[in-house]
Amino acid sequence: MPDDILRQVPSVDRLLNHDAGSMLIAEYGHSLTVEAMRAALEQWRSNLRQSASGGIPSEENLIQTARNLLEDWLASTLRPAINATGVIIHTNLGRAPLSDAATEAIRMTASGYITLEYDLNSGKRGSRSLHADALLQRLTGAEAALVVNNNAGAVLLALTTLAGPTSEYVHGRSVIISRGQLVEIGGGFRMPDVMRQSGARLVEVGTTNRTHVSDYENAITPDTALILRVHRSNFAIVGFTAEPTLVDLSEIGQQHGIPVIDDIGSGALLDTSEFGLASEPMVQTSLRDGADLVMFSGDKLLGGPQAGILLGRTAIIDRLKHHPLTRALRSDKLSLAALSATLAHYLKGEVLTCIPVWQMISMTLTEIENQAHQWTRDLTQAGIVCEVILGQSTVGGGSLPGQTLPTSLLAIDISDPDAAAALLRKNDPPVIVRIEGDRLLIDPRTVLEREETDLLNALKTLRMLGTRS
Ligand SMILES: *Cc1c(COP(=O)(O)O)cnc(C)c1O
Repeated sequence: MPDDILRQVPSVDRLLNHDAGSMLIAEYGHSLTVEAMRAALEQWRSNLRQSASGGIPSEENLIQTARNLLEDWLASTLRPAINATGVIIHTNLGRAPLSDAATEAIRMTASGYITLEYDLNSGKRGSRSLHADALLQRLTGAEAALVVNNNAGAVLLALTTLAGPTSEYVHGRSVIISRGQLVEIGGGFRMPDVMRQSGARLVEVGTTNRTHVSDYENAITPDTALILRVHRSNFAIVGFTAEPTLVDLSEIGQQHGIPVIDDIGSGALLDTSEFGLASEPMVQTSLRDGADLVMFSGDKLLGGPQAGILLGRTAIIDRLKHHPLTRALRSDKLSLAALSATLAHYLKGEVLTCIPVWQMISMTLTEIENQAHQWTRDLTQAGIVCEVILGQSTVGGGSLPGQTLPTSLLAIDISDPDAAAALLRKNDPPVIVRIEGDRLLIDPRTVLEREETDLLNALKTLRMLGTRS
């Protein structure tokens, strides 16, 4: 590259002293702006080397390049998105949206000091666990409660504490589980792997489709620590099947003095069968049927923040609370605040009106249909070819496999649905839709009220792709 050209290139100092440069400094700070300007100059130099042509860029051009770089570097990849898929608990989209009260609780907790581990009566150190624990006990009648980071952590903690290696059992103790429950939940969470990680010894009984009470009884030895039941969550075994009930298992447990622990996954506090769905295991039922320890997620059917909730006998929960792993898996103050606010909705009997997941589950088909028709009218006027069709929403989040809720979908005819879906993902905010055949499907059930205008504006941009007629 000719030296005379290089000599004419503006210096970083000149760019910084330019009015537009000062504006960048005010917005992004000095050192990051300098870095961006160096990068902009380097970009231009390498272009020049490659093409061996091209003139000297203006200062304005270089500063604009620097601005683009700064925007790009600082752009958040954690962005609010519109979920038009009809999958209510969408793990990739953050599972449960929180209620207004839970969101407000997070804001209050985040922006100042709070009595997280401070007992106002004594002025001494308190327990972070107690905030949600009392609400959970009141709601479910459990003797004791513990909240940790997530349910995967809850399972790991329970297995490690109750069956992991100790000075007495250096190789861990055995945990009996049915072969029909050795599940993979997703995201690499596989029961046998978690078991190995905890140091517990896995004792598989029965077969994939059938396990009997006698299978459990025959597997019990002096070093059996636990009987573990795991909800299959994301799939079903149908046909020639058998499995002891929890009542059966807790009877065996009682006879042999072995605790029964129940990982119910989603953990509903309301009965899903009242909403046209199959019955998802309920927390209260599991406790009533004799589980010594029950665990479930905070952000699945509970409709709260990410959390792993453990309920059960005081003696067991106390052992968990004193295990060092509990410190590593502890819940943060924001989640605890949101969880308490979510649990309060259950106590006040306002779940169906306040918790988004349950508002969505309990929406009537007529409500959804009206919404879909209203959007269709609006979009048709804007030149989008669409119609309202019947379809299915799903609960998702590894619960109720194969179960659907009848819904009303907005179907958009478009010549290239993949390109259309990609365009919607690039929208601000991004819109995530379903594709079926050569149509885009929009399910009003999972679109929040405040997102309506953004959604319709995004869908109107599809005009530029051309619709099929
Ligand atoms: C979802 C699920 C888990 C994992 O829970 P997270 O809260 O996502 O960690 C564990 N066990 C079962 C049965 C589940 O369904």
